[in-house]
Amino acid sequence: MYKKILLVFLLSIFGATSSFALEPKNLDLVKADLRHYHDSGAYPNDQTKVIDRAMEYLKTRIASEKFVKHKKPLAIVLDIDETALSNYPDMLELSFGGTFNDIINAEGKGADPVIQPTLNLYRYAKANNVAIFFVTGRTERFREATLKNLEQAGYKDIDGLILKPENYRDHSAAPYKIAARKTIESQGYTIVLNIGDQKSDLLGKHAEKTFKLPNPYYLIP
Ligand SMILES: [Mg+2]
Repeated sequence: MYKKILLVFLLSIFGATSSFALEPKNLDLVKADLRHYHDSGAYPNDQTKVIDRAMEYLKTRIASEKFVKHKKPLAIVLDIDETALSNYPDMLELSFGGTFNDIINAEGKGADPVIQPTLNLYRYAKANNVAIFFVTGRTERFREATLKNLEQAGYKDIDGLILKPENYRDHSAAPYKIAARKTIESQGYTIVLNIGDQKSDLLGKHAEKTFKLPNPYYLIP
């Protein structure tokens, strides 16, 4: 009898609570977290830590290349958005949202600020005869604005800029990015580093080492 009463009691508790889903975090609080990650300095600090590790590998790799008999030119592949240039001011203005057109218009301005640790790595690579290729999910229509933006941000004398074709339709950016790295290799380069803020930047090998920068602001499959 007592067991039956206990069972009914337990069912009434769990039956009642299980009818509620776990409420997701409030959107305004999520946005506050996103701002804090940037404004507290944690975001740039995390970016610096990743680039420091990439720089460490680059230095070791350049040093070891001296002992290689049949040398091939070395190259680095960099993504652009949230890797070489920051869209944070635009994202903030759009309150981490906006329509597709809002985002496209922001990209076309060509005034994105530099991500300094990446520029430092860029300069070190160039000073040591390592070529730098930018491979970006931006499409061909942004070539001029992107070249101007990179130059103004301090990325001088780039070795190549590969933009996504306007008619690219694959759900994932990865196949396009892998094909771009294969094209660079077919020109005789060994890609020692591939750095990006999205997993899709780094999938599919064709680089000795990959480094993933943080980006809690958006996802590109
Ligand atoms: Mg990116």
